[in-house]
Amino acid sequence: MDFDTDILIAGGGPAGLSAACVLGSAGHRVTLVDPAPPASGEEAADADLRTTALLQPARDLLEAAGAWDGIAAHGTELWTMRIVDAAAEPPVTRDFEARDMGDAPFGWNVPNPALREALLSRAEALETVDLRFGTAVTGLLQRTSGARVTLSNGTRLRARLVVACDGRQSALRRLAGIGARRVDYGQTALVFAVAHDAPHGNVSIEVHRTGGPFTLVPLEDRDGRPCSAVVWMDDARAQKDRMTLEDAAFAAEVNDRSAGVLGPLTPITDRAAWPITSQLADRLHGRRLVLAAEAAHGMPPIGAQGLNTSLRDIATLRDLCARGDIGSDAMTAAYARARRGDVTLRMTGIDILNRTSIAAMLPARALRARGVAALHDIAPVRRGLMRLGLGVS
Ligand SMILES: Cc1cc2nc3c(=O)[nH]c(=O)nc-3n(C[C@H](O)[C@H](O)[C@H](O)COP(=O)(O)OP(=O)(O)OC[C@H]3O[C@@H](n4cnc5c(N)ncnc54)[C@H](O)[C@@H]3O)c2cc1C
Repeated sequence: MDFDTDILIAGGGPAGLSAACVLGSAGHRVTLVDPAPPASGEEAADADLRTTALLQPARDLLEAAGAWDGIAAHGTELWTMRIVDAAAEPPVTRDFEARDMGDAPFGWNVPNPALREALLSRAEALETVDLRFGTAVTGLLQRTSGARVTLSNGTRLRARLVVACDGRQSALRRLAGIGARRVDYGQTALVFAVAHDAPHGNVSIEVHRTGGPFTLVPLEDRDGRPCSAVVWMDDARAQKDRMTLEDAAFAAEVNDRSAGVLGPLTPITDRAAWPITSQLADRLHGRRLVLAAEAAHGMPPIGAQGLNTSLRDIATLRDLCARGDIGSDAMTAAYARARRGDVTLRMTGIDILNRTSIAAMLPARALRARGVAALHDIAPVRRGLMRLGLGVS
């Protein structure tokens, strides 16, 4: 079969764009398709308010692909992870220091619009990468000799390998007849940014009190004021009510919940709500197809494992593609074998951590009785996850 492209990537989110940068800079002919427009900046009405903490292995991968400098320009280094049990009297604090594990930070926190724009700009600069936004994959024919992909504009493309990075509702997964198991935790994460007078000191702070964890992650200063991104996890019904609160009432709840760890907080962006679920595809490969990123696995936003795990998928793909025989049955099976264990391990770790947090979602009185014990329950799991994130063990 003559091929129009070596690798067709479905999905131009952060994972698909990273895959295009990594595989394109390795010299493979890549075509990326996505029905959405290329990128929306931070000011757009539909801007993604999330930030992503990228860990060291992610930095190494994206640096080798020539994409890191643009990302680092908007990244804030994370040197300390602090857990505060604000329900204890007096509050108990535990710090985990990156310096205890090496001379680099745990990671870099980057606003998602800046991350996407940096990846897009690197992908656009690569002659090997053909970006087709405004086009969806609508059909897939999987043959031993190659994959035939139909796009929403009627175009047909022949590819050696199709990489599904088309998100949790993956059309490619469905077209390939691969199911997925989903767990709904009944929680929602509220996401927004806050300004504060106290400097964040490159410390990420997870506050436990009543309800789920409230996490402040350092951002670049805005208008001369220190800022942090907030991920506030709690029961879905309580979060639905908070989404509709007037600004002043919302700010009061935010300040009450943060327990003053960074002094008074001023919300400076809209709020976005993300349901907390986890999801794992039944298989990570099919003929001429691999599932990557959230098309393959999704997990709650704790421990910064989501996109970082997806970037490990992409590193594995890069290594397997370098051996040649792109898209063969042996190659796609090797991908699935290499990724299944690591993905399952990370998902299990996050599930335990999240269930531990949910178990701590007790009324303040009960949580106080648990006091430091609640914190100790979480700390060893957290430490293990940090080591996983750093690739230390
Ligand atoms: C609150 C929150 C905080 C988070 N924080 C972190 C963090 O600190 N660190 C971390 O590592 N991860 C974090 N994550 C996870 C991370 O944000 C996600 O893993 C990541 O954004 C998902 O990217 P993706 O490219 O896999 O999927 P998506 O962004 O969903 O992209 C999928 C793309 O596929 C396209 N598409 C859909 N259908 C088709 C089709 N038929 N054909 C072609 N394309 C199609 C869509 O238009 C979309 O652009 C967080 C998540 C949440 C919710």
